[in-house]
Amino acid sequence: MLEWILGLYCLYLLIKLYAALMEIGFVEKAKRFEPIVLSAANYRKAAAYKIASQKLSLVTTLYDFMLFFVWITFGLRRLNEIVFFENTLLNSAVYVLVFIGVNYLLSLPFDLYQTFVLDKKFGFSTIAPRTFFLDQCKSVAMFIVFGGAFFVAMAYIIDTFKDWWMYGFAFSFAVVLFINMIYPVVIVPIFNKLTPLQDENLQSAIERLLDKAGLHSSGVFCLDASKRDNRLNAYFGGLGRSKRVVLFDTLIAKLTTSELLAVLGHELGHFAHKDILKNIAASALMLFIMFALFGNLPLGLFESLHVEPSAHVVIALFLLLSPVISFAMMPLFGLLSRYNEYRADAYGSECENQEALRAALIKLADENKSFPFAHPLTIALYFTHPPLTARLERLGMRFESSAKDACAH
Ligand SMILES: [Zn+2]
Repeated sequence: MLEWILGLYCLYLLIKLYAALMEIGFVEKAKRFEPIVLSAANYRKAAAYKIASQKLSLVTTLYDFMLFFVWITFGLRRLNEIVFFENTLLNSAVYVLVFIGVNYLLSLPFDLYQTFVLDKKFGFSTIAPRTFFLDQCKSVAMFIVFGGAFFVAMAYIIDTFKDWWMYGFAFSFAVVLFINMIYPVVIVPIFNKLTPLQDENLQSAIERLLDKAGLHSSGVFCLDASKRDNRLNAYFGGLGRSKRVVLFDTLIAKLTTSELLAVLGHELGHFAHKDILKNIAASALMLFIMFALFGNLPLGLFESLHVEPSAHVVIALFLLLSPVISFAMMPLFGLLSRYNEYRADAYGSECENQEALRAALIKLADENKSFPFAHPLTIALYFTHPPLTARLERLGMRFESSAKDACAH
């Protein structure tokens, strides 16, 4: 049984490594061509950033495999011997928190490298070590309190019900919905400062845009994203017809009013097409499949791991293997998501106009230094959004013989 799990993980590992190597080769080739979409300097930078992050992902993928191997072969069993409390629920919660804590600490060096070396070098990360440290402390504290409570509840469900996976699924899904609901109102303000938008013209333009889509605003806010990162973004929060609009200060600084409205129009397109609900349904389905799998693990697996099929081991296995399962499901969800993005682009360009959305997308990519296209395998495996060149083509832009075509063959 153990061989099967390891075999499956190795397959996952090989596909990921192969895709990363293909992507590196693709971008190495593409960067030698005449730059398209981005300014020449940013095109080269975007290529270099992509290659550097793919190389980092080669290392982390191998490292994660090593961690997985250690946990599966003796880590889970060893932790079972170390963590021992009379109270089974407390025992389960501590076991899972220690398991996650160890993984967190072991992957921290890579996070530090990404934030303070890679993202600094390419001019994304503006975060001060102090802010990073405070963020980490806040996250860890919240995780211990809320994660601990969640795992106690989950362990209770696993220990109590025979068909626990159905109840476990219902409970987890309710928690996911709840977090999504409170995220913009409760969690974002813990990390960032939201201030009402000062620009009244922009504010009333945004309100008119929402009206057209049959929604109304419960406030337009500016978020101080620039204290961490230079990348641009915007989002809508809130359920029902009343929406809170949050614009990153970095976005307001770079886009014209018309471009901002086109970007918000794109987001409104997701509401108009009920994409948010569809995404929720898709993640419910994904979660359901995972619970159905982990609720029916064969006993032979626990025997080969030399552990009891106790609640905390089931949860740890879930956490270890869920990346593999979501990786397997991602191509289908990515495909649906990319389709939805095209439709939202069409909606956004109707709200404002094609030129404004095109200009906004190009500026976003230029500022975020995101490479405008990718190897087809990378797109199929990971992309939730179509590559920029494909989106721009749908918005009426034509590329003459370019790197894009040269690399496709
Ligand atoms: Zn979108």
